[in-house]
Amino acid sequence: MPHCPSWLQPLQRLLSAPMSHLALTPHADMLWLATADDVICGNKPWKLWGHLQQLTSPPVRLLSFGGPHSNHLHALAGCGRLLGIETMAVVRGYAECALTPTLQDCQQLGMRLVFADKKTYRQRHDSNYLAHLQQQYQAIVIPEGGGGEAGRLGCEALGCEALAPYVEGYDQVWLAVGTGTTAEGLAQALPASTELMAVNVVADQGELKRRWQQSMPGRWRLLEDFHGGGFGRISDALRQLIARYDAKGIALDPVYTAKMMQAFEACNEPGKRALLLHTGGLQGRRGAGLSLPSAG
Ligand SMILES: *Cc1c(COP(=O)(O)O)cnc(C)c1O
Repeated sequence: MPHCPSWLQPLQRLLSAPMSHLALTPHADMLWLATADDVICGNKPWKLWGHLQQLTSPPVRLLSFGGPHSNHLHALAGCGRLLGIETMAVVRGYAECALTPTLQDCQQLGMRLVFADKKTYRQRHDSNYLAHLQQQYQAIVIPEGGGGEAGRLGCEALGCEALAPYVEGYDQVWLAVGTGTTAEGLAQALPASTELMAVNVVADQGELKRRWQQSMPGRWRLLEDFHGGGFGRISDALRQLIARYDAKGIALDPVYTAKMMQAFEACNEPGKRALLLHTGGLQGRRGAGLSLPSAG
C-alpha cells in the first residue's frame, strides 16, 4: 500500500494479512475479510485506514459515534490501542444501563465512552455539533460507521489492494450494506464485469437506492427485502439460519452477514459464480445472546 507514514504501519501490517476462503456451494465461495488480529477485523479497519491516511500527522485523539453494539466503535477502540492514539465514543444510550459486551471491550481497550440521549445523538451529522465536539475534546471526528468520503477511499483500497487477487473469475460479489460506504468503495475498484450484489440491512425507504442511482458506478443490484424488519432486528428465522451455518463451522453475525446469507439463499442465480464477503462483526453475536465461535 502506498503513502504509509510510520505511525500507521502497525495497521498496514495488520491489513496485509492474507484472507481465507471456503466453498459454500459448487458455484459460491465465501471470503473472510480477515486481518492479523481478532479485534480489528472485517471491513471497519479498512474504513478507518481511509480516515487515518488523510491525516498529515498522528492525531492525539479520535472521536466517533455508534450504538451499544457497534462494530465500528469496537474496531476504532482496537485501532487506537494498536496505534497508541486515544479514542472516544459518543454512544447512543444511557450511562445508567449496563454496558454491552461490545462497550465493555471498548472500555478495556482504553476508549472513553460518553453517552448521548436520542435527541443529542440525532445531532451527529450537524456541523455545529461536530465542531463543538472537536473543540471540546481536541479530537479528530470520524463519522458514524466510519463512513464519508475518506471511509469510501479506504474501501477502494480494500478492493484494489486486498480483494483483487480473490475476485478474478466471479460473476458476482455479494456483501451486506449499512451506510453503503464499503460497497461504494468496492464499486470503484472491482472489474467492470463483476456485479455487486448489495444486501441492504437497513429499512431506509429507498434512500440508499436513490443515492446510488445518481452516483454509483459499475454493475450493481441493491436487494432491499432482507432487513428483516429493520437494522439489528433478529427474527427466529434468522437465528435458525445462524444455527444452521454454525453447524457447518461458518459463524455469521446477526446484523449483517446472516442477512446477506438469507438474501443469497433466496436470490442466488444458478450458473453465476458468486463470491460472498464475510465482512466481520462477530463480536456483535454476544449482544444477541449468541456465543462467539472458538478461534481458528
Ligand atoms: C459495518 C458493516 C457492514 C456494512 O458496511 P457499510 O460500509 O456501512 O455499508 C457490513 N458488515 C459488517 C459485519 C459490518 O460491521
